[in-house]
Parts: sequence; C-alpha cells; structure tokens
Amino acid sequence: MKAAVLTSYDTSLSRADFVAYQDVPDPKITGPADIIVRVGGAGVCRTDLHVIEGLWRDRVAVALPYIMGHENAGWVEAIGTSVETVKVGDPVICHPLLSKGEALAARRGNDMHAGGAFPGIDSNGGYAELLKTAERAVIKLPLTLAPKDVAPYADAGLTAYHAAKKAARHLLPGDYVVAIGAGGLGHIGIQVLQAMCAAEIIAVDRSDLALNLAKDCGADHVIKADGNEVEAVLSLTQGAGAEAVIDFVGEGDSVANGIKMTRNAGYYYIVGYGGKVEIPTMDMIVTEKTIVGNLVGTYPDLVELMALADRGLVTLATREYRLSQANAALHDLKNGTVKGRAVLIP
Ligand code: ZN
Repeated sequence: MKAAVLTSYDTSLSRADFVAYQDVPDPKITGPADIIVRVGGAGVCRTDLHVIEGLWRDRVAVALPYIMGHENAGWVEAIGTSVETVKVGDPVICHPLLSKGEALAARRGNDMHAGGAFPGIDSNGGYAELLKTAERAVIKLPLTLAPKDVAPYADAGLTAYHAAKKAARHLLPGDYVVAIGAGGLGHIGIQVLQAMCAAEIIAVDRSDLALNLAKDCGADHVIKADGNEVEAVLSLTQGAGAEAVIDFVGEGDSVANGIKMTRNAGYYYIVGYGGKVEIPTMDMIVTEKTIVGNLVGTYPDLVELMALADRGLVTLATREYRLSQANAALHDLKNGTVKGRAVLIP
C-alpha cells in the first residue's frame, strides 16, 4: 500500500519533506479481534508536528520509520475471527487508543488510562491506505456521516467533547462558561456546550477570524484577547468570573488569565498544553477553585459526539489533501494557513 512515512525527526521543522510518500507492506490481521480499515480520511494534527520535532520520542517507545496519523475514519476492509459488531464494508471512525479491555481503567470506561497502543503516536497510524485497529476501537458511522468529513473528531473533536461534557454536567441556566481559544478544538467545544447546556458562552481569542467562527458556532459573547480579556470577562460576569473556563490554549498568558476568569468554587479545565499552572496554595483554599486535566476522551464520549454530528448539532470545517500531499498539509498547518482541519485522503 501507499503511505506517508516518517523516516527521521526534524527538531527545527525546517525540512521541505517531513514524510516520504512510498510503498510499504499492507498491515495483516494477526489476532481474532483485529480489524483492517481502508482509510477514508486521516486528520492532520498539531501533535503530528510535535512528533516530527521528536517531542514524543522520550514519552513513547517508537522506532522510525513509522506512519503517523491518529485521527482516522474509513471502511472495514478485513476482520478477525471473533469480530461481531461490524462487518466488511461498514463505515467506521476509530477511537485513537487500542486499550486493553481487561484493565480496570478500561472497564470503568477510561480507555486513555488503560494501557495499550496509540496508533499514529507509538505505532503505525492512518497516513496510509490501510490501518490496523481492533474491534474495541471502532464505532460504526451513521450513513449521514462520510469518513473523510469526521476523521478529525477521533482526537481533536473527542478531546474538546470530553472537556465540554464535564463542564456541561454542572453548568446551569444563568451560569457562564468561557472558551479560551476558538480554533480547531475550541470551535467544536463551543458547539458541544451550545448543544448540552444552557449557560452563556463567552469565547476569547486573539484572532477576529476565530471570534467570527465562535459566533457562528453559538458563542453568546466574544472577547478579543488583547491584554484586557480578564477584565472583560469579569465585567460580563458581574465581577465574579465564570463557573467554568475551558482553556484550549494552555500556554502563555492563557493559564494565569484562565484561572483569574474562574469564579470562586468554579472549574478551570486544561485542554491545550505547553504552559505551567502556578497558584499559591492559600489562593486554592480561599477560592475553592478546581483545576481539571483532560486527555483525549472515552469510547462512549466518541459515540455521543457522533450522535451530535449525526443530528447536525456539531459540524467540522475541513480542508482535503491527497495522501501524496501530506507534506503540503503539514507545512500549511505549521504556517497557520489551514482553514478548518486538514484531512489526508488516500
Ligand atoms: Zn490529534
């Protein structure tokens, strides 16, 4: 099969070709629960740039060359002998983790803490014609959703959903929720909040383009991140701050600002990463704020997100590239010129 293969790291992201488009052996069914998916679309994620930079090589055991791509959807091409829930030809989206179902964390639904493989991060992923996954990871798509249109939900959408769902569970009418960052993840998070709770949604971003997108996605208020965003949120919330702040940026000023925008006894959710949380313990006890981390999402989260997408309550802007144009997609992402989410199509 054809694949876009990462053959060496590029710590400065300066090469013209990050990946090599080449022939590689087809993946094979080796276990009874294995599934081979014919890839219909693979989302191109900022994490892929971090993989190319080598940021992940100390975190996971992976040997080059290998195939990136952890946001995958397609059609079932082949199944192992025990697979019962899908058949050859079914359209599916792949949960990004191949968790071990026997682990206690997996039995509780927390696949991301249950060990197992992360195709595209620590093993071959979906920048290819075929992807090896397993029955435990696939979700059959309704006929309304084409694989290439939903692939980025497998990680970007799932992560945004996971955090927004936690917030929606405690947000009441009359409450406020802030989304910091209305880009790839943030614009999905805003739609999820709009669909799942009655709180007033405030979007904060540096870019007017992103703020316009936020409005289209259902934000009730938009605030430009120009240095006065904390004051603007406090003024909108009668000086108290928001019951929930979801930080899709997680670096630079957004961390300190996000905590300041959070009301006493409120929740600050971290989704974007790269920065540091620094808060005096005395402030924590006086304000009773809760700081919550978010890692991908569960299999049920992805099922629920597909239900929202099926009803048209969440939509995703995508830009399509051929698999052979993977380097162009990665460069466009790096240069910030992708409108919506880049998807590679074999
Ligand atoms: Zn991703």
